[in-house]
Amino acid sequence: MPNYNILITDGLDGRGQSILRASAKVDYRDSTSADDLLAVIADYDALIVRGQTRVTAAVMDAASRLKVIGRAGVGVDNIDLEAAKKHKITVVNAPSSTTVAVAELTMGLLLALAREIPRADATMKQGQWLKKEFEGVELSGKTLGVIGFGRIGMDVGRRASSFGMNVITYDPNVSEDELTHANAEPVSIQDLYAWSDFISLHLPLNVQTRDLVGPLAFSQMRNGVRIISTARGGIIDEAALLAALNSGKVAGVALDVFENEPPGLTGLVSHPCVIATPHIGAQTAEAQSRAAEDIANEVLAALEGKPLRWKVA
Ligand code: NAD
Repeated sequence: MPNYNILITDGLDGRGQSILRASAKVDYRDSTSADDLLAVIADYDALIVRGQTRVTAAVMDAASRLKVIGRAGVGVDNIDLEAAKKHKITVVNAPSSTTVAVAELTMGLLLALAREIPRADATMKQGQWLKKEFEGVELSGKTLGVIGFGRIGMDVGRRASSFGMNVITYDPNVSEDELTHANAEPVSIQDLYAWSDFISLHLPLNVQTRDLVGPLAFSQMRNGVRIISTARGGIIDEAALLAALNSGKVAGVALDVFENEPPGLTGLVSHPCVIATPHIGAQTAEAQSRAAEDIANEVLAALEGKPLRWKVA
């Protein structure tokens, strides 16, 4: 077997590293800056990243022997796919490894929003007993609008149905048959905004979806809607969201993802009606282990010219 050089930048669970080390020389760099990557990338046949490292066109210009980029997870918005195509660099991901973790976090955020669990806990830690202030709402009987009904959206839909929620969804790429089979009613995006008590986002960030949820979308939503995003920062227009929270149009928001990460203590993060988590959707022991194993096997398959399960570009 040829002696492959593989670079890991954002960290990779141990099981994935062992699989790679059995067939290749593996280096780990705890730095994801573009300059740092530019200085070393020419030595490597494969690069494995998570969501932090930005694999830009300039990095690929400098990557004279790079054959494959592996993303240990789903979203590939940190990789310039056009540049990869131009340089004939294969891009693979591990799309199903984190589905359950993100779907379960979404359910946690739905419940946390409905009952204000984080704020209730924070007041207890200040020695208070504000029982009367915490009158929440029930999920049962409410309508959940799921935007993007792929792996995670469908899993969230299934779980929400078991909580007695009525699930409606907008996804232009999923057939009505599949949606109906999953117990979700396909609707237009306008109807989803108009009918949903809760809205959960599960679509990718790309040029079509950037700022999709902006002033027009908020104006079409129900008063008092609650929104959850575990998808990607940039899909919700954060300035418009803050305005909608301040006007009372949006009653609560749970965000795991932000336009700039980490966002710092912005008006949105510090808003009393916002629950914020630091992009922990895929952060379970099981998901990280599965993602590492899946991407290690997929990257080795790409280097060895074997059939691929998850080729993105
Ligand atoms: P997926 O590809 O299975 O599903 C995405 C769905 O979105 C597809 O069915 C697609 O048709 C749909 N879609 C695309 N454009 C749309 C649009 N304009 N309107 C409505 N639907 C649209 O992906 P997935 O595995 O379900 O992951 C969904 C997203 O979750 C990923 O793109 C990623 O950004 C995000 N994610 C976040 C975390 C986290 O840590 N918070 C972890 C994993 C994934």
